[in-house]
Amino acid sequence: MKLLAYKYRLYPNKGQRVLLEKHFGSCRFIYNHFLQKKITHYKETKKTIGWVDLANSLVELKKEHEWLDEIGSQSLQATIRNLDNAYTNFFRSNMGFPKFKSKKNNKQSFCCPEANSIRPDFEHNRLYLPKFINTKKKDNRLKCVFDRKIEGNIKQCTVSRDSDGKYYASILVEQNVEFQVKPKVKDKTTIGIDFGVKIFLTLSNGEKIESPKFFKQSQDKLAKHQQDLEELTKGSTCYISKKEQISKLHSKISRQRKDFLDKLSYKLTHDKQVETICIEDLSIKNMQSQNQAPTNRIIGDLGWYNLTRMIQYKSDWYGKNFLKIGRFEPSSKTCNVCGEVYHELTLDERVWKCKKCGSEHDRDVNASKNVKDFALTKMGFQKGRNYPIETQTSLVSG
Ligand SMILES: [Zn+2]
Repeated sequence: MKLLAYKYRLYPNKGQRVLLEKHFGSCRFIYNHFLQKKITHYKETKKTIGWVDLANSLVELKKEHEWLDEIGSQSLQATIRNLDNAYTNFFRSNMGFPKFKSKKNNKQSFCCPEANSIRPDFEHNRLYLPKFINTKKKDNRLKCVFDRKIEGNIKQCTVSRDSDGKYYASILVEQNVEFQVKPKVKDKTTIGIDFGVKIFLTLSNGEKIESPKFFKQSQDKLAKHQQDLEELTKGSTCYISKKEQISKLHSKISRQRKDFLDKLSYKLTHDKQVETICIEDLSIKNMQSQNQAPTNRIIGDLGWYNLTRMIQYKSDWYGKNFLKIGRFEPSSKTCNVCGEVYHELTLDERVWKCKKCGSEHDRDVNASKNVKDFALTKMGFQKGRNYPIETQTSLVSG
């Protein structure tokens, strides 16, 4: 089984937009109401209220606020479940404490968990959602552009409005797939990947992938807009329209980034010469963001994290081994040939020569070769010997 999300653009008409906004608002209200309730209850009793108790008290709340009846109760319950998950994650895995949702937030969303009532009509480009079906008006289906058909069983649908005011439906489906049998790990068909600030990604076979130019262009534009904004009077018409431009640009950048990473991860997991991909776990690497210019950050932090995630699940889909290693200190400072550590290496040195064995190194290629060797060594592979490893493990954690 694999879970997959299909995202489509929605074009609601005026009446539907009102209904969608009511859904966003009501789910936001429910989220905040129950978050406050959880906080108060914890303060008073030092105990947490489970989601079942919260869901039960929804009935009472609906009596107090009749307008909640316009919204599918399943969507409201899904909101409570989301809140409960966020709350649990905070205690279990040290994630941030759930925040109150604001109307001013750029992104608004709600979830329809009623799998059977979500019906895409591919022929007419329409999407039926639970509460929209029951309205009496004739054209109650949401206009939705299906650029590809859904394959698999629909689990749920999340409707959202982005910072640029565009509406989307993200339909989660479950596909019945058989994962491919993974090949044995061999030195010859293994690549190591090094993420960098100047070059986005370097492979141990010497290939380099730079951040696409449009990131730099978008970033420059963004900086210009921000500067303009500072000179405008807060709340003025110009100020508001400038803010809208900035929101739109943010959305555009995030779409560009996703597209770039999707294609890149597809390419890496479809290379016939490659059967094993080794990556350094960047959640441990502290992201270097302190010393990094915002330009690099736009693709950097989020890009590395998301790319690693994509390569990991695509490796499973397409039958590649995925090895993730913990951070090991001098990955760029260690000579890949003899193991000598060059402690004085600075960020500006792109090429360096090993004092011990005399090898000349491209900084990033050397680092990616080290990532590969380190991952293979962790699996019991000895450098210099080319024999297959008898294991199907897909993940080595540091
Ligand atoms: Zn050396």
